[in-house]
Amino acid sequence: MSVRHQRMPVVFVGHGNPMNAIEANDFHASWRQLGRSLPQPKAVLCISAHWETDGVSVTAGARPETIHDFHGFPRQLFEVQYPAPGKPGLARRTAALLTDTDVRLDDERGLDHGAWSVLAPMYPKADVPVVQLSLDSRQSPEFHYRLGKGLAPLREEGILILASGNIVHNLRLLNYRDPTPPAWAMEADREIRARIDAGDHSALIDYESLGEAVRQGIPTNEHFLPLLYALALRQGHDALDYFNTTVWGSISMTSFVLNPR
Ligand code: ZN
Repeated sequence: MSVRHQRMPVVFVGHGNPMNAIEANDFHASWRQLGRSLPQPKAVLCISAHWETDGVSVTAGARPETIHDFHGFPRQLFEVQYPAPGKPGLARRTAALLTDTDVRLDDERGLDHGAWSVLAPMYPKADVPVVQLSLDSRQSPEFHYRLGKGLAPLREEGILILASGNIVHNLRLLNYRDPTPPAWAMEADREIRARIDAGDHSALIDYESLGEAVRQGIPTNEHFLPLLYALALRQGHDALDYFNTTVWGSISMTSFVLNPR
């Protein structure tokens, strides 16, 4: 007998600095609160900025390792282990849903910090299984948006889809010592949010036409693309509830939950 689930929310989170995983700051606190406020998922499917591949892959191992995919951070961050189990059945289900493309089941790949830096505060017991879907770096924004739509049935199956990136992300122009946001970063955040609010997904797919500030905020699009997956999953009745609407230097932390109502 199949079990019907209440439709799950979808989360887009701006993850920002990997230190948010362990630092007692407002972002960390908001992710703890998020984990407590969402309905308990059967598993998480995470689309992270930090897994780019040729072709689409999904993590299919039962025990994904914790990947420390950054450098120049304190040892304490490299010591974090997030031993959430994988869920090979969800990996296969995801591959089966994405009929437009071949999806490779990757038994070896672990969880990158785009996933675990947020999930460790959300689910500190690491008792919710996690599967990651990669970003095919050869593909257009339109492709990513369409792929996101294909994941919609998972919302009815108790799966929390967590898209993890940053809508504005320019590391080259980031000053870690002075997180005062430059005017262009504020403007890019405002422009992108206005299109999210208007439900103007075509404008976001065509983000390069949104002006100089947005182009400066998206010098490469791996942190932006997870947004398109989240928006593609928005259903007519979902409320869009923002949190962390802060621009931290040249990184926007703007995040939201799509809540069924
Ligand atoms: Zn990142």
